Amino acid sequence: MDKTTVLILGMTGSIGVQALEVIQKMGNLQVLLGTYHSNQSLAEELALRFNVGKVLKIGTEYDEIFRELEQIKPDITIVAVPGFVSLPLTLKAIESSKRVLLASKETLVCGGWMVKKALESTSTQLLPIDSEHNALMQLYEDGVERILLTCSGGALRDWKMEELDEAKPSDVLKHPVWQMGKRITVDSATMVNKGFEVLEAHELFDIDVSKIEVLLHREGLVHAGVFLRDGTVKLHMGFPDMRVPIAYALTYPKRDYHKAKWPDLSESKLSFSRVEPERYPAFSLVYEIADDYAKRTAYNASDEIAVESFLSGKIRFTDISRVIERVVQKIDGIPRDLSDLVEIDKVARRLAIEVIECL
Ligand code: NDP
Ligand code: MG
Repeated sequence: MDKTTVLILGMTGSIGVQALEVIQKMGNLQVLLGTYHSNQSLAEELALRFNVGKVLKIGTEYDEIFRELEQIKPDITIVAVPGFVSLPLTLKAIESSKRVLLASKETLVCGGWMVKKALESTSTQLLPIDSEHNALMQLYEDGVERILLTCSGGALRDWKMEELDEAKPSDVLKHPVWQMGKRITVDSATMVNKGFEVLEAHELFDIDVSKIEVLLHREGLVHAGVFLRDGTVKLHMGFPDMRVPIAYALTYPKRDYHKAKWPDLSESKLSFSRVEPERYPAFSLVYEIADDYAKRTAYNASDEIAVESFLSGKIRFTDISRVIERVVQKIDGIPRDLSDLVEIDKVARRLAIEVIECL
């Protein structure tokens, strides 16, 4: 039997490598191509270790990867590159693959309507591998009235509010639950990541953001839940391990990944509590801008610049949300297509740099 063919955008990243591990374990999938941005030596090492057909550098020009996607027409494309660039890559992947596994949340944050429109004109399936949304996909049924997304609260969740100004990159990069790329780890501490996820769920499940509840859940075992009209609540539980949602999306609707390791319920304590809005100002903002794609694109772009500046020591941790708030406030407009969004993304980045210089 022919193997299912796979292309991985962002192969050298945290999701990319975990996808390779899952694929190796499954045996019936073949990675034809994987991309990298800066880490060529890792890309070559991974290609050897995981039998990847070809590696390709992407990051300044995308014509070559667009051509590869058209020629290869993979059964499955995994989109796991951070940032705005994930949007055009996802749109192309929808055109050229049978199934798209979407890790990059920025895609739906900035261009949710474009992705949905692209899906309408093809038979391509789009499956989320962000753990909460992958869980929701498994829980969803008729009669969902509200949904729950859980969060860890990030590395500084127990810091005193007055100490947050002093937080260094090394403090923020110690995530209490997940091992991930740098940007998403900082985004967990500001909860911008959860803001992205609220928008992602809003797009994927066509549910109003007022019906998306986020609760702090320290144990990291429950990923999401649905509240059904008859009073039933379904929660999705499992160890925090991205390989499980990746495998589910690769083999959907089957469950062909044999991990067989479950939390011991007799040893597990589950706690849920409300998020303190004053601790995570950039998170609360997302509920106000949910229906405004220009501001959503600015939210992503300004966060990216602010996180880079924080990691390179230019601004304080608490400045990240300040930068986002100021940039989002200044951006207006009704984007109609990708080129409008590209323009908004550029303007928002410029504004973020200006705001940072004036802090
Ligand atoms: P990483 O930073 O670990 O990896 C990013 C990957 O994308 C690397 O292969 C990197 O290449 C490549 N890349 C970086 N910049 C560019 C660019 N400008 N153009 C093309 N490729 C680029 O990120 P993660 O794997 O953690 O996250 C990837 C995406 O998945 C993000 O959108 C994140 O929000 C999402 N996600 C991640 C989760 C996780 O557990 N890690 C969970 C849920 C969602 P190189 O390393 O060679 O420079
Ligand atoms: Mg997530």
